[in-house]
Amino acid sequence: ADATQNFDVAIIGGGPGGYVCAIRASQLGLKVALIEKRETIGGTCVNVGCIPSKALLDTSEHYHRIKHEMDDHGITVSSVKIDVKKMMARKERVVKELTDGLNFLMNKNKITVFRGTGSLVSAKPDAVEIKVEGEKPASLIAKKCVIATGSDIINIPSVPVDGKNIITSDHAIALEETPESMVVIGGGVIGLELGSVWSRLGTKVTVVEMLPDILMGLDASLRTLARRTLEKQGFTFKLETKVLGAQAKGKQVEVKIADKDGKEESIVASKVLVAVGRKPFHDSLGAEKVGVKINQRGRIEVDAHTLQTSVPGIYAIGDVIEGPMLAHKAEEEGVMVAEIIAGKPGHVNYDCVPFVVYTWPEIAWVGKGEDQLKAAGIEYNTGKYMFKPNGRAKAMNQTEGQIKIYADKRTDKILGVHIVGPNASELLGEAVVAMEFGGAAEDLGRSFHSHPTLSEVMKEAALDVNKMSIHQ
Ligand code: FAD
Repeated sequence: ADATQNFDVAIIGGGPGGYVCAIRASQLGLKVALIEKRETIGGTCVNVGCIPSKALLDTSEHYHRIKHEMDDHGITVSSVKIDVKKMMARKERVVKELTDGLNFLMNKNKITVFRGTGSLVSAKPDAVEIKVEGEKPASLIAKKCVIATGSDIINIPSVPVDGKNIITSDHAIALEETPESMVVIGGGVIGLELGSVWSRLGTKVTVVEMLPDILMGLDASLRTLARRTLEKQGFTFKLETKVLGAQAKGKQVEVKIADKDGKEESIVASKVLVAVGRKPFHDSLGAEKVGVKINQRGRIEVDAHTLQTSVPGIYAIGDVIEGPMLAHKAEEEGVMVAEIIAGKPGHVNYDCVPFVVYTWPEIAWVGKGEDQLKAAGIEYNTGKYMFKPNGRAKAMNQTEGQIKIYADKRTDKILGVHIVGPNASELLGEAVVAMEFGGAAEDLGRSFHSHPTLSEVMKEAALDVNKMSIHQ
């Protein structure tokens, strides 16, 4: 190994948590090392998660619209075809441009990147020793260390992944042709998004979900709306249904399921996508060896105010700790920890983490839903508005959906905003900012919203909280 190198901060894992933390720490004048075992920076998100899935969602959305929605516009299109290989090549290009961009940012910020697997060797005050194993082994001493090793796919033992017929999201973003049929195990975000990609291209998709509904985090009334719109697009949902096992049979897979009464059934499909969630990843990190505590759920334990682990000087961020497994949550924690290490007051407001499902219509929410407000005994007013009467939505022919806003009955402070509708992902932004600023529904409702835009649905919903909506 090379001679030991010294840093102010060493970050293990180069996903959205780790690389953002590295940039912020460097901006604050610290000497930073980033250790990543993949060939490229960007983690799950850029390499096999957020970005490739959105690239494919975009292509499949164009295809679906051209095929099914152009007639109304007076556009005749004949013989619409999808070249799956070309779609995949574009996705690869999008990912490559972004990972190249991240390399540029690492250089620009003078971050020393080590390619290899990092592990903790010892932890003394202001001297954490880290070993890097890979093509060029290295040994580092850093005053502070940040664990940002992310998450990995959860497998079901009775549904053994073979990468061909029984697949995970890693494979579902890289199929070479459109499967005839697909059983998606798990009605969460990843299952619905990747199910949508293939469903739009012609795959018959059946989603099997153990819980009573899909997307259990979403406000109950919008959940039904979201499920119905997906059903209209051809999705079949089997709720409160357990998967007993799956077995490859030639080119097909047989999936055995049982409903809540125990009635068993077999579904035969070309592909089975296992999308039951992700688990924190810290294999070969040596966390426990140096005393970093891991909770029963496998997540690294941290202090809520500093994100410091049970070992002073070692911090942890992103998917590997508690909280929603989202790229922007990891990023904000990366910034927070860099600022704390640099002696500044870093902070993340977990009440304002946005959630987005990039189906069409999109689904997005921030803050509390009706069930949660009731459970917490908070009195609230509700405002709602549909996309149907909105001028821009009509002009776009995208009128499905609704925005719902909950605000404190006494203070009018916004407590939650839930959207099913066109461009919900982008529309949610102003709600997040309003909530960060402790805004009231009336503030949002009295703010200018350009006409005609979809954002006027937000304005009307905010006005409706105090029954001031103009257009209903
Ligand atoms: P990761 O991105 O998992 O990065 C951890 C990195 O650490 C990895 O690159 C890994 O190789 C490296 N590593 C691990 N151990 C070591 C070690 N010992 N030494 C060196 N390197 C190591 N989130 C969203 O917000 N929006 C989305 O639209 C979205 N879509 C998704 C779609 C899919 C299909 C999937 C799978 C995930 C999606 N996510 C999305 C979730 C998002 O990808 C994660 O929340 C995010 O990547 C977490 O960031 P992280 O930095 O904590 O970990």
